[in-house]
Amino acid sequence: MRSLRTQLSMAFMLVVLITVSIISFFSNTLISSQFESYVAKTQAQRTEHIVSDLSLLYNSFTRSWNKDAVHTVGMDALEEGYIVKVYNHVGESIWDAGNHDMAECQHIMDDITNRMREYGRAGDFASHEYTLTQNEQKVGFASVSYFGPYFLTEGDFDFISSLNIMLMIVGVSSLLLSFMAGLILARRIARPVAKTAEIAGRIAAGNYDIQFEGGTRTKELLDLVSSVNHLSAALSKQETLRKRLTADVAHELRTPLATLGTHIEAMIDGVWDPTPERLKSCHEEIMRLGKMVMDLERLERAESDNLKLDKTPTDLLALTRSVCDNFAGELTTKNLRLNIDGTPAAALIDKDRISGVIGNLVSNAVKYTPEGGHIQISIQDTENETVFAIEDNGTGISENELPFIFERFYRADKSRNRNTGGSGIGLAIVKSVVSAHGGTVAARSEPNKGSRFVIILPK
Ligand code: ADP
Repeated sequence: MRSLRTQLSMAFMLVVLITVSIISFFSNTLISSQFESYVAKTQAQRTEHIVSDLSLLYNSFTRSWNKDAVHTVGMDALEEGYIVKVYNHVGESIWDAGNHDMAECQHIMDDITNRMREYGRAGDFASHEYTLTQNEQKVGFASVSYFGPYFLTEGDFDFISSLNIMLMIVGVSSLLLSFMAGLILARRIARPVAKTAEIAGRIAAGNYDIQFEGGTRTKELLDLVSSVNHLSAALSKQETLRKRLTADVAHELRTPLATLGTHIEAMIDGVWDPTPERLKSCHEEIMRLGKMVMDLERLERAESDNLKLDKTPTDLLALTRSVCDNFAGELTTKNLRLNIDGTPAAALIDKDRISGVIGNLVSNAVKYTPEGGHIQISIQDTENETVFAIEDNGTGISENELPFIFERFYRADKSRNRNTGGSGIGLAIVKSVVSAHGGTVAARSEPNKGSRFVIILPK
């Protein structure tokens, strides 16, 4: 396994190496081909010059050659790598570089040959004959011998090698720079990734209360860090819910089970006669336990199916009326007045779940409003939201209990609630369903005056 740092640095270096090699290869090929054709052209011009210079050195009046000047031209040419021989029109030698300085000639020829071999160019010295003319009259001829097809001078070689040294320096420094860039980049990426991995490990070990800053400005890494933070928050919430649910269930089961236990024990021991009233009371406790189990199942469904809402456009006013119809019997028994007002309100909701929510709120209002009371439901539809409000003039909820009524198993004024038979789960379900719709539910209440619950569902 290789670290991110090594991999990134190596990738960077590889890219630079390939780029510099490609640039070097192409620039060398391009330069040498251009340069070589330039050199070949210059050489041809130089030979022409030598020949024309030599032609001028014949004096047609005296019919003689200016041998000193021929010598100067020949020596200049020799230094540049051209070995010149000059003959008069009958073929007698006027000047010969070889005869003049054999050693120098050989030295220059070896020098050029070796240099060209070193450069990897094949070729050899070859003689080229030129006729020397004056006023279109042949005055002699010259033999110019040079390394063909072309040769490079020392200055040309220096130029090519400095170009290659420069490319090498550029290559090496780019390699170093890319290595450093790779290291820096890798550090920037690797550090938050390693930190995230460490945090994920701690979360996996059950340490959920960790929130951390990524210390990075890279978008993807920030997303990763925030996802891990969300994960830990979600796991932490789940863990708390799980623990609380277990504690709540245990707490809620303890009382009816203890009551049942002592009652039945007393009857077995003969302390109590199993009268129909006592058996009925035991039966009621069992029924209460059964109802609690059913409520728990409802809550579980509401919470676990939060994301699976089957939303359809529904008129909330019509839905409310039909839910309230089911309470007609209880309303008559308790002599309660129920009034629904508002306009038809098209809302995109899960019809079954929202009718459960309305049912819960109406049922509570009926339960906690004494005989002859009044329940008012109003529905408002605005551009952005649908608002459902239910108000009663019942028992109300005290200020210190109000914040907890949406918690599971919470029942305000426990002794009074024994009679109402609630298990404290209804409002927890209401909250779950409304939250799943992206809405909010809030309560306002005053003891002995009444309560008002408002649900706001966004469009
Ligand atoms: P329960 O099954 O006990 O009604 P809920 O979750 O529906 O459970 O309600 C929680 C508590 O909130 C109730 O026990 C009750 O004390 C209080 N409550 C809810 N609705 C009303 C209301 N309309 N008037 C007075 N108290 C209410």
